[in-house]
Amino acid sequence: MLLQLRSHATPRDLESIRALASELGYEVRTLDASGRVLELCRRADGRPVRPSAHHRSLFEDLAGVRAVLDNREAPELSERAQARADTVVTVAGAAFGGGRVSIIAGPCAVEDEGRLLEIARCVRDAGATLLRGGAFKPRTSPYSFQGLGEAGLALLGEVGRATGLGIVTELLDPRDVDSVLDVADMIQIGSRSMSNAALLVEAGRSGKPVLLKRGLAATARELLLAAEYVLSQDNPNVVLCERGIRGFDDVTRNVLDVGLVAHLSRATHLPVIVDPSHAAGRPDLVLPLARAGIAAGADGLIVEVHPEPSEARSDGAQAVHPRVFAELVAAVQGLLRLDGRELATLPAAGSTERALAEERAR
Ligand code: PEP
Ligand code: MN
Repeated sequence: MLLQLRSHATPRDLESIRALASELGYEVRTLDASGRVLELCRRADGRPVRPSAHHRSLFEDLAGVRAVLDNREAPELSERAQARADTVVTVAGAAFGGGRVSIIAGPCAVEDEGRLLEIARCVRDAGATLLRGGAFKPRTSPYSFQGLGEAGLALLGEVGRATGLGIVTELLDPRDVDSVLDVADMIQIGSRSMSNAALLVEAGRSGKPVLLKRGLAATARELLLAAEYVLSQDNPNVVLCERGIRGFDDVTRNVLDVGLVAHLSRATHLPVIVDPSHAAGRPDLVLPLARAGIAAGADGLIVEVHPEPSEARSDGAQAVHPRVFAELVAAVQGLLRLDGRELATLPAAGSTERALAEERAR
């Protein structure tokens, strides 16, 4: 590892760096005349030292260190090291990454069983492989509908079983982890929770695939470090999600950062999906933003769908009608063909339910 020191690093800062290096088992060599670049090498005597992302962070946190320059020896778990293949995250019938693309769709929040079942059938028949729906909703106002909670989870479980769709739902509080795990095939960590370390560790420990949404003002590095919390719990199944960041114009709810999508496919081996609904904040832009995300290389989409947006209890203003969702899936399939990629789909419409009914009858 190479350390670049700050120009104003004091002799005491240097002492702390040397003390940490020695404690971890490194020998320190000064590489340039100014003394501002230090190389940490394995000590010839003593136990062999293995540079790690943890060591790298310990040095980065010291006051005298400006940057750790050469990270090849100590990559973070999310980093795309040389020749590292894409991580493919599989969830129920869906697959994200390595050329596989899947679509998650459903209402913003679980409202009632009939509506959830209706939406689930529509999105499944149009080509979605996972059903989304929040039982615990992270609303901006404490007076807004907060979700049905446990009752919502029970409905998700029932509708998932009835339609053959895997379930994606948000974990908002570490205390709910067991009940969420009972029904979720994939745990959503929402934008507002992206930097909640306790929640990330809990999601990591669960071993379930995690959908990690970018905070609305989070940098790429912050998103990847949030993913690192999950990965470092020995859970490799993380899907990142770009859902738009804060901008200055209110023509869209957020600004979809397609640059980040393209960047992440170079910076990390983890799959990345796009949420055009929370980026657009209005139904007419969901389809074009979905196309933009896929064109930028996204490994999937998460889309809010509702047949009666004016009756939706949250995010009705951005929900697309099932008919528009079907058009969106067709548009995505067209783009994927150009790319030599394919959409993971469930067996043909109706056959899943028939198979499930037959299974129940046996
Ligand atoms: C959601 O998916 O409904 C949601 C609340 O998203 P975000 O966390 O991106 O705001
Ligand atoms: Mn929503």
